[in-house]
Amino acid sequence: MTSKLIERFHSIEPTDAQRWRAINLFGRNVASYKFSLAKSILSLAKIQKTSISLDDLAIPYAQNLCEHLKLSPKQTSSKKSTFLESCQNFNLNKISKIELLDITKRVGFNYVLDAFHIVNGKEIGTRFFENNRKNSKEIILTDEILKLASNNQGYNLLQETEARWRLVETSWSLGLSKNLIQADFDRDAIFIDKHKQKRTDITSSRAALNGYQKSKCFYCFKPISIIKDNYNFCDVDHFFPFDLKKKSVLKSVDGIWNLVLSCKDCNRGKMGKFNLVPAKRLLKRLHQRNEYYISSHDPLRETIIYQTGNTEIIRSSFLQNNFETAKINLIHEWSPKIEGNAAF
Ligand SMILES: [Zn+2]
Repeated sequence: MTSKLIERFHSIEPTDAQRWRAINLFGRNVASYKFSLAKSILSLAKIQKTSISLDDLAIPYAQNLCEHLKLSPKQTSSKKSTFLESCQNFNLNKISKIELLDITKRVGFNYVLDAFHIVNGKEIGTRFFENNRKNSKEIILTDEILKLASNNQGYNLLQETEARWRLVETSWSLGLSKNLIQADFDRDAIFIDKHKQKRTDITSSRAALNGYQKSKCFYCFKPISIIKDNYNFCDVDHFFPFDLKKKSVLKSVDGIWNLVLSCKDCNRGKMGKFNLVPAKRLLKRLHQRNEYYISSHDPLRETIIYQTGNTEIIRSSFLQNNFETAKINLIHEWSPKIEGNAAF
């Protein structure tokens, strides 16, 4: 099931942007190096540099990790990392920047450069850089990443990588899945800080959800944006309407399992969804979306499993039951007026 889902994620719209996302979403997360490398490469590609020496790469790469260590001391699921210890020591003024960059060049790039393009055990279709670490101590950025970074999408991808990183480190700092708060989410809050027992907006759910939705409306596939000032800034929508909670019909509609990104037209435009029940085929799409999360190494994975069930059969009947309850109460089904080509 898992690898089938991942293949579907690639095959249905296998653009370079989707492959880049797949690296962030489905690659293994044993340490944060991949996120730091992804951010460094995107920012270097943005200024259209092609040949990046390890000296140049080490600067943003180490800096990203140092900054994240300040937010979250746990950056790997393994016990010891000389490189991360050096980043900590730099933060504590115990070593100089020159020393840090030297250590970064020597041990910081172990594995990460070789493993970056591996998803689901295989090299992904597009290469975003060539690794010449051993021969000429540099990497060469490819046209694919230069192109990705040059438009607006580059900014979205950078945001998504950052959101993804924050989610993963939150799950680590909370001791993985069991301490995640499972229900009663705010529209934009995904986790609750277990120590403070209050809602913590660790990142906007928009950025976390957008990786899956590929910057398209969940319902009509129209392009949406997660940038507030853009004309097509999206809504975070409850698939099963929030009204069902207010009227105590359904309990956990605030869970991430029920949140999707929607264009304003679908959510609240003329003939918009408002408090209607999305048509059954859209329910299938939601199920598929939730199964994407579950197939990835993501704290959302654990959350959705907790919220909706341990097996795909249970999760499917959970949605089905909610659908029937919603339908009995709200009567009408809704579909978008016009629907573009399926993007996920
Ligand atoms: Zn729409």
